[in-house]
Amino acid sequence: MTRISGRTRGRNGFTVLPARDFVKIMTRSFHSYEDAVAFHGHTCPGLALGYRAAEYAMKRLGAERSADEDLVAIVENDACGVDAVQALAGCSVGKGNLIMKDIGNHAYTFINRKTGTAIRLVQRPEPLTERLDPEAAALRKKVMSGKATPAEEKEFSGRQAAIIEKILTIPFSELFIEKEARSEIPERARISGSVPCAVCGEMVAEHRARVKNGKIVCIPCAGEYSRGW
Ligand SMILES: [Zn+2]
Ligand SMILES: [Zn+2]
Repeated sequence: MTRISGRTRGRNGFTVLPARDFVKIMTRSFHSYEDAVAFHGHTCPGLALGYRAAEYAMKRLGAERSADEDLVAIVENDACGVDAVQALAGCSVGKGNLIMKDIGNHAYTFINRKTGTAIRLVQRPEPLTERLDPEAAALRKKVMSGKATPAEEKEFSGRQAAIIEKILTIPFSELFIEKEARSEIPERARISGSVPCAVCGEMVAEHRARVKNGKIVCIPCAGEYSRGW
């Protein structure tokens, strides 16, 4: 827990934080792999890969963890590694600087808006965990099918930890290929107003609202309508 010093009472009776501490909280940084694990919920090879990609991209682009939207990530999958990108690079859905283009490719594009530079990191095409520990493959199958004995499960988690350790330490070029970025710099996230839905009364962002029978409604209340193209 963060200890905040020098709390004072504002005129309205609410506790106000000295600006210095407030800034510290606002820009709190996540640097280590452990921070990524805390965010993701567990350690795994996918998370370690995402961590290496984010770490490399930030160094290569000369970018800090993004307090705002200066660093943008375009991720092409929805796997564990995306959480490391969020934790380490500060590219998140809420800030609008994480763009999920989930087409299933193991690739991450990072863009530094300040310098206008970008890179696309693509995972090497060979099966990584098999290469790092060829003997773990059969064991993994057994564990995933739920047929492993407790001893085998223990052995698997030991091997898994060793694989993760390797991913975190081997040269980056053994994990990813650096390619030219394909994308333009995306527009900064727009701040959108909200309006109440005329049917259910819930607030809906203006850019997502629909019009039904001349009234502004939310998407569920509008009902699906598509010609399939
Ligand atoms: Zn995971
Ligand atoms: Zn509604």
